Amino acid sequence: MIDLHSPLHLLQAPCLEIPNLWIKRDDLIHPIVSGNKWRKLKKNISFARAKGLQGLLTFGGAYSNHMLATACAGATFGLPTKAYLRGDEDMDNHYLRTARLFGMDLLPVPREEYRDKQALANAFQILHPDWLILPEGGASEAAEKGVAEIISELPDDFTHIICASATATTLCGLGQGIRKVGATAKILGIAVLKNAEEQRQKLDAARLSDVCEVIESYEFGGYAKTTPELMDFCRSFIAQTGILLDPVYTAKALFALKDLYHSGYFPAEARILFLHTGGTLGIFSEKFL
Ligand SMILES: *Cc1c(COP(=O)(O)O)cnc(C)c1O
Repeated sequence: MIDLHSPLHLLQAPCLEIPNLWIKRDDLIHPIVSGNKWRKLKKNISFARAKGLQGLLTFGGAYSNHMLATACAGATFGLPTKAYLRGDEDMDNHYLRTARLFGMDLLPVPREEYRDKQALANAFQILHPDWLILPEGGASEAAEKGVAEIISELPDDFTHIICASATATTLCGLGQGIRKVGATAKILGIAVLKNAEEQRQKLDAARLSDVCEVIESYEFGGYAKTTPELMDFCRSFIAQTGILLDPVYTAKALFALKDLYHSGYFPAEARILFLHTGGTLGIFSEKFL
């Protein structure tokens, strides 16, 4: 079984120049698999096991943390896994090799076909009615419930919790956790791609806009894009702390946190927590090294 209760400690990183910053180490939930992807999968896996389902199917690009997490979760709990891979990408990288090690069956499909994931899912489900199909990125109601558990692992005096945000599933889950325990912390999601408006709509629909906020302008050009400034920041932080960051998610979120802090965003009495969502395999991508 995977123990999801991750460490919480003060973060000493000279490059941030932030005294009293706390970090929740969901990157330590698993050496390779994204912490937040484990959180999101947890209740889906329990469901699949309780129903006696026979396997897990999902979708992803060649560098998908969710795809890899599904492969590892399947291997951990004895469920075979398959993933439809968005075609015409690099089909032999460290993500795909690792997913294969976990026994995942990778099924590349051309981009046009991949676009209609519902059609692929429907066709698959007819042939395999006893498999659980998980959406791209792992977004679901069960996923949010899994994420909400993070809040119960924290003391209740944090005023701000910050993390990287893409589908806003993690953000919604944290918001629901805050609601449930009646805490007052504000959840800040740093948009790592240019979809802040879409993320806000999701928060509105979930009636979480008073608890959660999406912050934009730290996309560094878009999803998986980077700049020399971001890479320098990422390298300094890693060298100063021994904690890995990845340029796709966590480095952008932490860069934003530093910037917000030094531009006076937080009140003096703020108790700030950075949620390290994992994804550390990302830094080992050829294009970043
Ligand atoms: C997927 C991912 C996120 C984004 O989570 P969402 O729930 O989609 O907003 C953040 N950090 C890491 C490391 C991830 O892999």
